[in-house]
Amino acid sequence: MSFIFRPQGQPAVAILHSERSFPVRRIFCVGQNYADHAREMGSDPNRESPFFFSKPADAVVANGEAINYPGQTQNLHHEVELVVALDRAALNIDTSEASECIYGYAVGNDLTRRDLQSSAKKIGRPWDVAKGFDQSAPLSALVPITECGELISGEISLKVNGETRQAGDLSQMIWNVNEIITTLSRLYHLQPGDLIFTGTPAGVGSVKPGDVLEAYIEGVGSLSNSIIEPLIK
Ligand code: MN
Repeated sequence: MSFIFRPQGQPAVAILHSERSFPVRRIFCVGQNYADHAREMGSDPNRESPFFFSKPADAVVANGEAINYPGQTQNLHHEVELVVALDRAALNIDTSEASECIYGYAVGNDLTRRDLQSSAKKIGRPWDVAKGFDQSAPLSALVPITECGELISGEISLKVNGETRQAGDLSQMIWNVNEIITTLSRLYHLQPGDLIFTGTPAGVGSVKPGDVLEAYIEGVGSLSNSIIEPLIK
């Protein structure tokens, strides 16, 4: 096939203890999946049904890379999340089949322009500009499920400049990983390369240029990124 310009490179995530990388196809995210975070966002946590939004695949940022403070916001927020990477297709599956689709896990940070999200919510507009901007999906190296086993509980936390801002446990998820994969498989034909951000515990807050964000998940590892000056002033 010939193209009118050279296609962009394939977005990818490193794999722990491997020379090979995980090619990213799509990034799905779950909203308000920890009760204490739903409450801090002014919602009533319930199990009516999980809701989703997405980020472009090329929003991924590796561990250790600096992130430019995005434009058009005065309130950039951190959200530490367990990220699940799929290496099998899934369409309309049963919860019992979900874990077979999991390649592994990463520590992610669902960076959010909170002011743009709040105004979108008020007037019923989409969240794309609040959630799906450039460099909005920093991710640690993936840990294969064959190395760490299925993650059901364990510490999930985030520090800004060494100070703990978020601290929770994976067992506090309203919808567990298998339920999330199952629900998504009814909305999309899931494919190898798809990533799922599974929601954040309470304690989200604002960051600024010069801050260092360190996210941690027990059994997966750490993700560290600094925020630097904006590209767009
Ligand atoms: Mn989130």
